[in-house]
Amino acid sequence: MTRVVIIGGGPGGYESALVAAQLGAEVVVVDSDGLGGSAVLTDCVPSKTLIATAELMTDLATAPELGIGLVDHTAPASQVEVDLARVNARVLRLAAEQSSDIGRRLEREGVRVVRGRGHLDGPERVVVTGADGETETIEADAVLVATGAAPRTLPTAEPDGERILTWEQVYDLTETPEKLIVVGSGVTGAEFASAYMALGIEVVLVSSRDRVLPGEDADAAEVLEQVLTRRGMAVMNKSRMESVTREGDVVTVRLTDGRSVSGSHCLLALGSIPNTAGLGLESAGIAVDEGGFVKVDRVSRTTARGVYAAGDCTGVLMLASVAAMQGRIAMWHFLGDAVAPLDLKKVSSNVFTAPEIATVGWSQQAVDAGEIVAEAVRLPLAGNPRAKMQGVRDGFVKLFCRPGTGIVVGGVVVGPRASELIHPISIAVAESLTADQLANAFTVYPSNSGSVAEAARRLHHPKV
Ligand SMILES: Cc1cc2nc3c(=O)[nH]c(=O)nc-3n(C[C@H](O)[C@H](O)[C@H](O)COP(=O)(O)OP(=O)(O)OC[C@H]3O[C@@H](n4cnc5c(N)ncnc54)[C@H](O)[C@@H]3O)c2cc1C
Repeated sequence: MTRVVIIGGGPGGYESALVAAQLGAEVVVVDSDGLGGSAVLTDCVPSKTLIATAELMTDLATAPELGIGLVDHTAPASQVEVDLARVNARVLRLAAEQSSDIGRRLEREGVRVVRGRGHLDGPERVVVTGADGETETIEADAVLVATGAAPRTLPTAEPDGERILTWEQVYDLTETPEKLIVVGSGVTGAEFASAYMALGIEVVLVSSRDRVLPGEDADAAEVLEQVLTRRGMAVMNKSRMESVTREGDVVTVRLTDGRSVSGSHCLLALGSIPNTAGLGLESAGIAVDEGGFVKVDRVSRTTARGVYAAGDCTGVLMLASVAAMQGRIAMWHFLGDAVAPLDLKKVSSNVFTAPEIATVGWSQQAVDAGEIVAEAVRLPLAGNPRAKMQGVRDGFVKLFCRPGTGIVVGGVVVGPRASELIHPISIAVAESLTADQLANAFTVYPSNSGSVAEAARRLHHPKV
């Protein structure tokens, strides 16, 4: 029987374990911190559970416009209070339940799970050190490294777990911060800033760049920044953090230009570093880049024969969905099943702010840079009948298609539940559908997805 050993039990690890078991391999998953990994226990699942509460609060803010008056006039909708301790308890409970579900599924599929830290001793042997210091050596025909990444911190901005926090520590808060300073305006910073503001907390967002979400579609980022500032967030652009210090109950963020901002709490969202130190990668001949990320090709092979890597430790695209796909691809490849290399142009992703920003395929930046020739259309959501009924004013649908063939190559949706609305565009990109095909599929009337079809209709070239 072919023996597969997987180091790391996050989506990169457990999804590949399921594929390997399905293909008849003998599978061991070595995990140190709990199945589901950071995705389930500290990052993706907890943040989206918190955001579910924030979404309800955002919806409540439109209640008066939609004709809702609260019976108890002492508690109008704008004064509905969030009990952060209860929210956080729910977040942690759901995360733990999901982790247990994954454990049961792996057990059902016959995967052996070993608790402890794994490291490679050459390319065909993994040594596991348990919490009690005991070690176990496991021989492998193939190894998958899926050890994930951890929040980046700086010596001048050390988290204390109480008021200066990483995103892994926020769920221990039992009291609501009075004023939260979020440092970093990438996806993680923007999501937390948006969520905590919706929960009623005063938020300052410190961004080193000239706008929030520098890596996303510029039009989308502009809409988001307008909405966030209109709702009361202080967005400090071109503001590079130098240090974060705490004195008693006050935290102060100092900027490199001499300014400073103080609050009750600070959340550091400074990106991630790969968990690749001390893994014995060198002993196995596995190359890493200058940032410590494992180098892989599009079927997840490392530079060592029989050793694959998946997920955040490769830095390819730090998403749970991509980690899982890289892991599956590795197993399909090693165990001889049909496999297509990873295609990042087909990955759909979402920023869970209010409004949400979902994207797939080629971007506006790539079109502007001449990397691909594409026609673009942008349709505001405000004209959509369903959006009007729901009191939605901000957002748009943007589509990119090839000028000659009309094949849809990318899209952006900004609006409530954009993460759901992107799916038809994602199918079009994956299956190389034309704008006409996307336009001609029925949509429900009235629906926000009607705007996706309408945008596609605008890309039609009459054959006269
Ligand atoms: C705040 C936040 C929100 C996010 N939201 C989303 C989202 O909405 N959608 C999305 O797609 N992605 C999201 N992501 C990204 C997503 O969480 C990661 O891409 C995903 O966790 C990567 O999975 P992974 O399997 O590579 O690693 P991880 O999930 O980090 O799992 C790796 C596991 O390996 C374990 N491990 C490490 N070293 C060892 C060792 N030596 N031995 C044994 N075990 C080890 C770790 O403890 C961990 O349990 C978010 C990230 C953050 C920070």
